[in-house]
Amino acid sequence: MGVYLEDNPPKRSQFRKKRRAEVTGAIVIHTAENKPDINGPDRGAENVAKFIAGRSESGSYHSVVDSSSVLHLVRYEWEAFHEGTGGNRWSLGLTFATKASEWQRLPPKWVDDIISNGAKEARAMADWVKATVDVDVPARRISASEYRAGEAGFVTHAELDPGRRSDPGSQFPWQDFLDQFEELGNIADRDAEDVDEKVDDVEESDETDEQLSEAVTVVSATAGSQNGQRTAALEYPFSLALDDIDELYRAYKGTRPSSKVRQEIAKDLARHVFADGNDSYGFVVDVEKRLRTEE
Ligand SMILES: [Zn+2]
Repeated sequence: MGVYLEDNPPKRSQFRKKRRAEVTGAIVIHTAENKPDINGPDRGAENVAKFIAGRSESGSYHSVVDSSSVLHLVRYEWEAFHEGTGGNRWSLGLTFATKASEWQRLPPKWVDDIISNGAKEARAMADWVKATVDVDVPARRISASEYRAGEAGFVTHAELDPGRRSDPGSQFPWQDFLDQFEELGNIADRDAEDVDEKVDDVEESDETDEQLSEAVTVVSATAGSQNGQRTAALEYPFSLALDDIDELYRAYKGTRPSSKVRQEIAKDLARHVFADGNDSYGFVVDVEKRLRTEE
């Protein structure tokens, strides 16, 4: 995915490479306080991104959404400068391209669309948190003190900094946002179950690993149409890890694993990556350890 502030270097520093603390799964919700773009193609997110790249004060977010798009501004693994109370080091910042005071006045369809994009982006953040620190982001709001105590969930900028901030506003449609966020997670879980089922079918019919990987590709492509980022993030490590494991077998055993063994490995790896949402690297490391101790 393109990262806007890398492709368009900002006038002054708007993020910190490398976090000073591990992410907790806290996501801070903002509005960018731009004029919402409700006429014609929505350029709100692009306008906010441009504003951030050109401003001389510090102030950024990981992502900005409008009614037609999601823009990534800062990598999740870096700190964005989105809140001024000390939590940038462990949190993620998501902003909606509108004003905190405008929710009631906006066209309902426009609100539906921007909330839907916000929920998708929050789910992509949560998937990344899960893959990175194995924390589930629940579909619930947390208080400022829970935020500071390291809990996962959603908090408003206003709750963190009530003296200075009111965003995303008291009329932000929380119920819709959290419901959609949760449902996207359920879809992802169902996709994972589908993968698991496919993998079991392949095992029962004792097909080759080529067919297995084809099955996984088919299922993950379906998942991809529902949640592209999640799948893109998981599919590459899957094939890469299988290649690495072949190499490890060559190094330790002088030959790649038999078709039968490779099928077992692919199945375990598919569970590990697609069903459990884990990083493939740990799996490869475990295979290496096993091969080394078998020697
Ligand atoms: Zn804010």
